[in-house]
Amino acid sequence: MNVSIVLFTSDLRLHDHPPLRAALASAPEVVPLFVRDQAVDRAGFAAPNRLAFLADCLTDLDAGLRARGGRLVVRHGDTVAEVCAVARETDADEVHMAAGCTAFAHERERRLRHALEADGRRLYVHDGVVTVLPAGEVTPAGSDHFAVFTPYHRRWSAEPRRSPAAAPRSVQVPGALRSEEVPSRTAVASVSEGLATGGETKGRERLTAWLSRHVDAYEARHDDLAGDVTSRLSPYLHFGAVSANEVVHRARSRGGAGAEAFVRQMCWRDFHHQVLNARPHTATQDYRTRHDRWRQGKQADADLRAWQAGLTGYPLVDAAMRQLAHEGWMHNRGRLLAASFLTKTLYLDWRLGARHFLGLLVDGDIANNQLNWQWAAGTGTDTRPNRVLNPVLQARRYDPDGAYVRRWVPELASLEAPLIHEPWKVPPLDRAALDYPDPIVTLADGLGRFRRARGED
Ligand SMILES: Cc1cc2nc3c(=O)[nH]c(=O)nc-3n(C[C@H](O)[C@H](O)[C@H](O)COP(=O)(O)OP(=O)(O)OC[C@H]3O[C@@H](n4cnc5c(N)ncnc54)[C@H](O)[C@@H]3O)c2cc1C
Repeated sequence: MNVSIVLFTSDLRLHDHPPLRAALASAPEVVPLFVRDQAVDRAGFAAPNRLAFLADCLTDLDAGLRARGGRLVVRHGDTVAEVCAVARETDADEVHMAAGCTAFAHERERRLRHALEADGRRLYVHDGVVTVLPAGEVTPAGSDHFAVFTPYHRRWSAEPRRSPAAAPRSVQVPGALRSEEVPSRTAVASVSEGLATGGETKGRERLTAWLSRHVDAYEARHDDLAGDVTSRLSPYLHFGAVSANEVVHRARSRGGAGAEAFVRQMCWRDFHHQVLNARPHTATQDYRTRHDRWRQGKQADADLRAWQAGLTGYPLVDAAMRQLAHEGWMHNRGRLLAASFLTKTLYLDWRLGARHFLGLLVDGDIANNQLNWQWAAGTGTDTRPNRVLNPVLQARRYDPDGAYVRRWVPELASLEAPLIHEPWKVPPLDRAALDYPDPIVTLADGLGRFRRARGED
């Protein structure tokens, strides 16, 4: 056999890449292929921030391949049709790719296998490329997935792991093969001003720097909003520019309580992927219905707009929403609070919030976004589905001196903590000088409405 194809999807890297290694082992020439599939755009998933980050990742992947004697081949169109066309043009026998866990990925694999086999070729789908453990590798007795995190974490932690593989030294690509241009970030409009730069090189630099400087502080400070000591690896993980397996391996080798706490968060990522893999419909439907009749109508629409714009009158919620708009990323504590506020205090459908997040998040991910939204809304895997986060108490705890609010809500920068978190308590004359809205609902009213809706009063 002379040629194999590696189809890159959510695994845009050269290090620790089982499909690439398998393709290189099977043939002297390999086609590293990326298909820009319009079906992804049609599914509404092609948000500008992710398209810009994707362009960075592809540019970096191409550069990495060129440094090894190869290049990236880019095609536009339907993935199945394009892979089959490249296989015919190069007479490739095998196609290697990573397993996905969304309904879209399952269907793409099924169609691709069928089409390739009809042509006398084979598809190899590799597990454990996108996640640390393959989704579905560990299951509890009597179910196809874990619905509770703690027992999953126990099993996940005990499972043997593959050692991370080095990047290949050389990749030989067949010469005369047509490729579209590698997309460029500059061609993408409406990108958030503070968006991070993508690519494997940046991702690996960040991983190394973060492990050496911040991991030890992670356990104690990961919820400190202004401290900003979390890894910010989520976009690189989302695009597979760094390998989740390698991230966990390197954190564990570093050792310590900070590294263990960080690895536990990485396990949440696998946890949500295994839920989605087994229950693909949870991308759009409740995992566990609470029979919600979410608010609708003019006031509900106005509340949604205020939340989206960071103008709810609750400084910490607004700060988080403005960070999202500016960076295409939000701190986890901000995400939890913003989601609790929308679904519980405002009692608006989690899908509205999830859609807004997906429109902006550079790490926007069906498994992590939809299932974290469901967790926050109490329709997912949270074992305390009716807990409501109080934005004032959260602010006192996670932004005690108000630095995070001061950064993102400059209208309130003149206020000291704790007043900065409750500007409605500012004396009337000074309050009038602040260009900042009153709360769109009192916390007591929001809580009462939610409890009544959930039959808890
Ligand atoms: C409403 C809501 C929506 C979210 N949407 C997404 C999303 O679309 N994409 C996404 O990657 N994460 C999402 N998260 C999870 C989490 O907020 C982010 O992964 C995290 O903030 C990314 O920052 P970091 O890389 O600095 O995380 P770190 O604290 O450094 O954690 C390391 C990695 O662990 C994983 N991780 C951490 N927390 C979680 C979690 N709760 N669930 C799953 N994985 C986690 C991420 O891959 C993260 O990069 C969401 C959380 C909430 C509450």
